[in-house]
Formats: sequence, structure tokens, C-alpha cells
Amino acid sequence: MSAAAPRASGAGEPIYLDYAATTPVDRRVVACMLPWLAEDFGNPASGSHAFGWRAQEAVEHARAQVAALIGAEPAEIVWTSGATESDNLALKGALLHEAARGRHLVTVATEHKAVLDVAHELRRQGCELTLLDVCPDGLLDLERFRDALRPDTVLASVMLVNNETGVVQDVEALGAICRERGVLLHVDAAQASGKLAIDLRRWPVDLMSLTAHKSYGPKGIGALYVRRKPRVRLAAQMHGGGHERGLRSGTLPTHQCVGMGAAFALAAAEMDAECARMRTLQQRLLQGIEGIGGVRLNGHPRRRVPHNVNVSFEGIEGPLLLESLTGVAASSGSACSSASLEPSHVLRALGLDDAQAHASLRLTMGRFTTAREVDDTVQCLQASVARLRGRQSPI
Ligand SMILES: *Cc1c(COP(=O)(O)O)cnc(C)c1O
Repeated sequence: MSAAAPRASGAGEPIYLDYAATTPVDRRVVACMLPWLAEDFGNPASGSHAFGWRAQEAVEHARAQVAALIGAEPAEIVWTSGATESDNLALKGALLHEAARGRHLVTVATEHKAVLDVAHELRRQGCELTLLDVCPDGLLDLERFRDALRPDTVLASVMLVNNETGVVQDVEALGAICRERGVLLHVDAAQASGKLAIDLRRWPVDLMSLTAHKSYGPKGIGALYVRRKPRVRLAAQMHGGGHERGLRSGTLPTHQCVGMGAAFALAAAEMDAECARMRTLQQRLLQGIEGIGGVRLNGHPRRRVPHNVNVSFEGIEGPLLLESLTGVAASSGSACSSASLEPSHVLRALGLDDAQAHASLRLTMGRFTTAREVDDTVQCLQASVARLRGRQSPI
């Protein structure tokens, strides 16, 4: 494990508990990527010489590795620059291609901005949008979802693992409902790869967004799964050269593709052991935090990935908590938008008020998190919460 770690968390470095924001690139992944920069630099689209052939072979090997993690065929994988681009291609590509059939899109209030902002842009361009609420545990009600689908609904977009709460939606059941109604289902799985088993041979999902940098691969590379049977058709959003069967033009970054493939192969090999270890650490972290008192866990207690603990603290002004928690790198329930602190739209959708959302903390663990770091985090939190509660109590 230590050979793969980016570095031991050094003296003076905060403890990194923000794996849902991004992960370090696993050292083993870095090693796979390096030869494809200066030595084997060929353009994978150069079909007339060995430089190109070698690069193309590497890209196709990586494509197969990405496909294998989700039970897809390599031909169903389209390289993109990350999950944001994949979400754009899926939503805009489907709505534009199917415009003659309908212009209605269904998605959920707790989606990532990479889906929500695209949905709002599509509405601005004349599409109709239904934005579904979730239950207080963060899960989507299947009947409410079914009722939202109309004859003119083209696509529903529901994420698999929520990036703030770690809650896991039942996309298998949602997909079955979509199939009944002839609606395409897109799933943003940016937070899911390597955290739970995904099997698109069985799951009735049509489109799936993936990214490398939340799963120990490099930033700036992702993929969109596009089902071949039954065939899903999209309007391309990037033109110029006709790469990726016309769906996404642009020279493929061989080193990035190789990095994502290697990261996903590692995820497949290590997922079971890693998840078991995460569950132990999650219990340890939760027990420690619950010992502080006045804490609530946000999101369903069991239908969540073991990497995520999202909690609200009573009697604390949220932004102060993260500020005072200098020993830990984590995220709060506030997002900076145009210089003001906005309460998280995800926590608001779970029914938290602004103050509770601000007083929330997202701690996300990963491959290099240790029990020692979890214990140190609990200690830091205890001290911070006690200090802030003491300062703010009226007497
Ligand atoms: C991180 C994330 C994205 C954006 O992915 P990028 O690869 O950074 O563009 C989209 N959706 C979810 C759920 C994410 O967590």
C-alpha cells in the first residue's frame, strides 16, 4: 500500500479527508502513464506508422479496462475530458438528437451542477424540465419518478452515488421504469467507480458518465458509456475530425487514457478489500463523531458508500467549523458561488435549513486514509466543536 501512496501525510500537512473532491493519482497509475508522454508520443489517430499504432493499441487497451469495470463493451466507451463533459454530451446529445420525438427532461434536485446547469441551459433553449425532490434520506421515491415520465420525455438523469452525502440511488429499478416508458436513463457515476459493483450487462442504463480523478487516475480524462444494444443515438457536441466514431472529436491524450484505464483496473482488483476497509473506518469515524454529541448524519444511514460521512453539528455556525478545523482538509455544507457562501443545494433538498446546511461537514476517505488519521480527525473535531460551542453559548 505505501508504495502506491503519493506521500506519507507529513508533519504540518492537514489530514486529507476530501477524496470526493479529488484523489491523488496512485503511484502505480503514474508509472503506467509516464512512457506515453516523451517516448511513445505518437498520435493514436496516425494510421500510417508504428508511432500511431502503438498509441492506438494503448488507448484501446485502456478503453477495455474502463469497460470491464462497469460490465460494458469497449465499443460502448467514448473518451471525454471528464464527467462534466460526459454529462453535457449525454444530456444535450440525447435531447438534440430526439428533438422530433419530445423535449422533456427529468432529473433530480440533488444532482451535481454538471447535470443541473446543463438541464437549466437546455430549458433556456426550449426544453421542458422536471426537477424531482428527494426524500429526507436523499433517496428518490420510485412512484414519484414514474409519475414524472411523460410521452414526450426523452431522458431521465439520476446519479448513482451522491457526491455530498454518498447516498446510492437504485438506478437498476429506475432503469426498469424508464424501459417500460421508452425513456433513456443517464447515470452520473463519477463518484461510484471502484466504490460499488456496476454491471451494465444487467442494469437497464443507457448512458453513464465516468471520470478518472475521483478514482486515483489523472484529472482531465473521463468517459461516457453509450449503450449499443439497444442502440442509443446522440448528437455530437464537439466536431472536428470525427474521432470516437464521430461522437467526440479531438486528439486522444494517450497518457490520460492509459491512466484512466490503469486506475479502473486497480479499482476492479481492489474494490472489495478497499470497501471492507472503508466500512471499518467509517464506523470508527462515525462513532468518534457521535461521541461529540449534537450531531446528525445526513443521508440514508445504510444506502451510502462507505467512504462518506456527512454530518451536521448543532449550535455551530458552519463556515466557522471548517475554518477552525485547520488540521483536516474537508468540505463544508457551503459552496462558494460568486463570492458569497451558499448553503449546499443537496442538503437543502434533504430538508435541512440554511443554518444546518452551513453547519455540515463532508468527510470523505479513500485508499490512503489510515485509522490513525481518523482518530486524529475525531480529536481535532472534538476540540473545534467544544471551542465554538463554548464561544457561542449565550451565558
Ligand atoms: C466530480 C463530479 C463531476 C465532475 O467531474 P469532472 O471529471 O471533474 O468534470 C460530475 N458529477 C459528479 C457526481 C462528480 O462528483
